[in-house]
Amino acid sequence: MRYAIFGDIHANLEALETVLYDAAEQECTNFVCIGDIVGYNANPVECLNTVRDMGCPVVKGNHDEEAILDTSLDGLNPLAKRAMEWTRAQLGESDRQWLADLKLVRQVRDFTIVHATLDTPGGWTYVTNKFDAMASFSYQFTQLCFYGHTHTPKIYVKGESVEALEETEATLELGKKYFINVGSVGQPRDGDWRASYAVYDVETKEVRIRRLEYDIQTAQKKILDAGLPEMLAHRLALGK
Ligand code: ZN
Repeated sequence: MRYAIFGDIHANLEALETVLYDAAEQECTNFVCIGDIVGYNANPVECLNTVRDMGCPVVKGNHDEEAILDTSLDGLNPLAKRAMEWTRAQLGESDRQWLADLKLVRQVRDFTIVHATLDTPGGWTYVTNKFDAMASFSYQFTQLCFYGHTHTPKIYVKGESVEALEETEATLELGKKYFINVGSVGQPRDGDWRASYAVYDVETKEVRIRRLEYDIQTAQKKILDAGLPEMLAHRLALGK
């Protein structure tokens, strides 16, 4: 049985559809979403409906949380503020309620999912090195946990010490724990513009990060047509 684990979609429908199509081709029969369905790009409602209709386990991301608050956005930079105001205006009451009901951490079969970190899941801090990963490992009670938030795929392994693998695939070994960032579907930030997600094979214990080209021109055009900041279209092509 294979799981597709995907997140940080950020309202990029073209990237999401490409990932779901590929996941079916990879014979994934189960799907898991690690949050940040909305924010930045131009199809928040369509992406939310797609994920909701899949009926799969989903955890809440910081953008999902921010999008349903009525709080002032004055603390954000002008670009982020404009994008979030626009996103808030797109969502209907039932969309907001569905996002509000999402949990921060969930266990699915034999693994855990969280958007940011297990040590402070609602604090939205970033795991960017092995010391951050170490803190999260202290709260990881399954061998495997998938996360996102940094938009950069990465595999951390905890044996006697914690290390970050160079590879984008791993076979789980007994006695070790794995904290795996599946990268971002809709706004990668590792210098590679292609959509990212992970495939986990429950029988062989293999995890692979996959990268996929998608129709970026359409996604960019929608951003500009919606009146969202031009920079958001520009950065998609840069992968940052
Ligand atoms: Zn995100």
